[in-house]
Amino acid sequence: MGIVFTGITAALGDPFTVKRVDIRIEGNTITTISDSPLSPRPQDTRIDGDGKLAIPGFINAHTHLPMVLFRGLADDLPLTQWLTEKLWPVEKRLTADDAYWGALLGLVEMIRSGTTACSDMYFHVDAIGKAVLESGMRAVLAYGIIASRLDNHGKSELARAEDAITAWNGAGDGRITAAVAPHAPYTCGKSVWQSVVTLARRYGVPIHTHLAETRTEVADCYVRYRKSPVELLAAWDVFSVPTIAAHCVHVTPSDIAVLAEHNVSVVHCPKSNAKLGSGVAPIARMRAAGVNVAVGTDGAASNNRLDMLSELRFAALTAKAVNEDATLVPAADAVRMATTAGAAAVRIPAGVIAVGNRADIAVLDLSQVETVPVYDPLSSLVYAAGREAVCDVIVDGKFLMRDRALTTIDEDRVKYETKRIAVSYKT
Ligand SMILES: [Zn+2]
Repeated sequence: MGIVFTGITAALGDPFTVKRVDIRIEGNTITTISDSPLSPRPQDTRIDGDGKLAIPGFINAHTHLPMVLFRGLADDLPLTQWLTEKLWPVEKRLTADDAYWGALLGLVEMIRSGTTACSDMYFHVDAIGKAVLESGMRAVLAYGIIASRLDNHGKSELARAEDAITAWNGAGDGRITAAVAPHAPYTCGKSVWQSVVTLARRYGVPIHTHLAETRTEVADCYVRYRKSPVELLAAWDVFSVPTIAAHCVHVTPSDIAVLAEHNVSVVHCPKSNAKLGSGVAPIARMRAAGVNVAVGTDGAASNNRLDMLSELRFAALTAKAVNEDATLVPAADAVRMATTAGAAAVRIPAGVIAVGNRADIAVLDLSQVETVPVYDPLSSLVYAAGREAVCDVIVDGKFLMRDRALTTIDEDRVKYETKRIAVSYKT
């Protein structure tokens, strides 16, 4: 039994070629892309592609899934105050059950906006992994380490990170992989980072961290180490391991050269950075220097949507606005950052619609009023479409959403449970 799209406009390959084709999916793989009509077999699911656009599913490269529970709990505050006075105290009360239902709510929101994979960093990883497994989503999971030294607490944080790798790397027939996630250079000390590098090498997994997010972080780093956060991690040999660095808002031209030289992937989280008043990451400069720039929403407490479509639109618009240059981050590049570049950053076998690749595809209906008429489908997607246009989502060859109906998650139950849990966080 397979899936056959007939007469669908699709963003194929890398870089994108956008054209009308038929596509066959068998098992978890894209097996045929044809300019001439394919004949669906009786057992195939046939999707009429008229008026629709198929893209590689969005890859949300930096998330903290259960933070949807704190959506709107602490708005309009700068990062340090938001984190230390609001978020960390409520996170201490978060149970594994809370994290499970929160993760499911986050996954529902992601699937509804065409996301097929996420790279998550949080605690209660087993609860998050269970939710991801049930959802059918592809994910890279990591335990968020916060430890200044390798004392008993530091060792226990490293042990939890290792437990997350052994439990989840390769789970769900390979849909789930793992990373090691030291929270940031300002929350983890040198000995902890060195152990992180050893752990990542031992298991062959990437490092996922927050880097150079605020001006204060960078200034404090210079005072403490006489180096920028980027220079510090390079000096500690962290970048000898494939690294996914979220934010990189405050980076100098020489920092950018270091990121490019070491093939560090940057995850641009423009709405989180804007909402926390952190600034705008220089993605045009980073991309021009050859840095792989992906896109992430960050957690819902600082965004407050897990909506990759609005994220990539904001990414394109802010790059144009701050540089006073309309030619920067054109529509196809914005989509590529949120798909192909994301897959390369988090090292998953998806992100490009091509024969032989994993079938992770989002389908959008461009016949909505806000996307009529369509001259350039990727322009319609980036500058006009809302996530309501997403109608089908396929991961590993299986529908997670079909005609806007979720197939793996009981959405009403998830909303009920998360509203129940949220009551305890209101006080
Ligand atoms: Zn984050």
